[in-house]
Amino acid sequence: MKVLVINCGSSSLKYQLIDMNNEEVLAKGLAERIGIDGSKIKHKPSGKEDVVIEKPMSNHKVALEIVINALVDENYGIIQSMDEISAVGHRVVHGGEKFSGSVVVNDDVMKALRECIDLAPLHNPPNIMGIEACQELMPNVPMIGVFDTAFHQTMPKSAYIYPLPYELYEKYGIRRYGFHGTSHKYVSNKAAEKLGKNIENLKIITCHLGNGASIAAVKNGESVDTSMGLTPLEGLAMGTRCGDIDPAIVTFVMEKENLDINGVNTLLNKKSGVLGVSGVSSDFRDIESAVKEGNDRAELALDVFANRVKKYIGAYAAIMGGVDAIVFTAGLGENSPEIREAVCEGFEYMGIEIDRTANKVRGKETIVSTEDSKVKVLVVPTNEELMIARDTKELV
Ligand code: AMP
Repeated sequence: MKVLVINCGSSSLKYQLIDMNNEEVLAKGLAERIGIDGSKIKHKPSGKEDVVIEKPMSNHKVALEIVINALVDENYGIIQSMDEISAVGHRVVHGGEKFSGSVVVNDDVMKALRECIDLAPLHNPPNIMGIEACQELMPNVPMIGVFDTAFHQTMPKSAYIYPLPYELYEKYGIRRYGFHGTSHKYVSNKAAEKLGKNIENLKIITCHLGNGASIAAVKNGESVDTSMGLTPLEGLAMGTRCGDIDPAIVTFVMEKENLDINGVNTLLNKKSGVLGVSGVSSDFRDIESAVKEGNDRAELALDVFANRVKKYIGAYAAIMGGVDAIVFTAGLGENSPEIREAVCEGFEYMGIEIDRTANKVRGKETIVSTEDSKVKVLVVPTNEELMIARDTKELV
């Protein structure tokens, strides 16, 4: 059984074709600049040369047509015909309160997704466009929706209700939803497997540290708290997002800098985080290089970032009544020994001890704590596409 996994952004479409008999990735790629000049697809078929296809793509449907043609192309294709695709799994960012698991997409699901647009105006519309494009091009193939929010639907009310007038929750659904759920679920299960323990007896803190970053408390296999909230802006400091700040800063800055709603949204989402503090870049590699050259603000940005992660680890250990394992994943979590060390430093009193040699690892599933460390620390590369494909297979 072959499953196509689709992840649509506003001007991009990421895809993977996975053979679910052995979970092998047959091809993957990225269509960029959809709807703007210079659109192209980078297509990577397994065992064949990578290829860049430069063609105008006015919308996601056109992009998907080109992707399908690439998959069946006689030179760089990987399947004979699109009939070999048994199902399509779609990453959907916001499922609101309606979805606590993945679903087969039907008219009711599409209606519910549209109702969630208010909660994720930047993310859900392209996700919906991706599903519609697939439905048009593959009308008889089942579509599955896999939600970033679903894993966190197990949070208790005390974790997801904000201390605001309760009517705002009832009227508008203002509450904590949490994101990166597919990743938190995948890496917590992988960590339990690696430790040879049953996840139902473990307290795990999963740190998804990428350009977007979030952290989750996973108790007995269920998310009980997470740092992102109504939107992916809350929580940790990120590449360009501020994470937690005093909410009064918003109106203060609007007044002082004469900003309207768009202006302040851009400031908090695009100009803050480690970019804002360092003034160097949102990319942690650039910041780590600047630190090596003696840039104090770059160093401060990393300190602010690590301080936040540390604070959340302490908080989530408190909420779960302890912690058995801490898992690092995503671009930075998988690849930066420095950040992992900075986060774990000073946590020895809680039984967290990093093994500096083991911690040199990049992008490989490894236990990086010492033999004696009471709390195990792991690096687990995330694989959201595989999780989406597994859910898709299960549902069809
Ligand atoms: P993601 O959003 O998961 O793709 O993660 C992207 C972030 O991971 C970027 O800020 C990168 O700078 C960071 N990253 C990727 N590779 C490395 C690396 N080798 N060292 C430090 N940071 C990295």
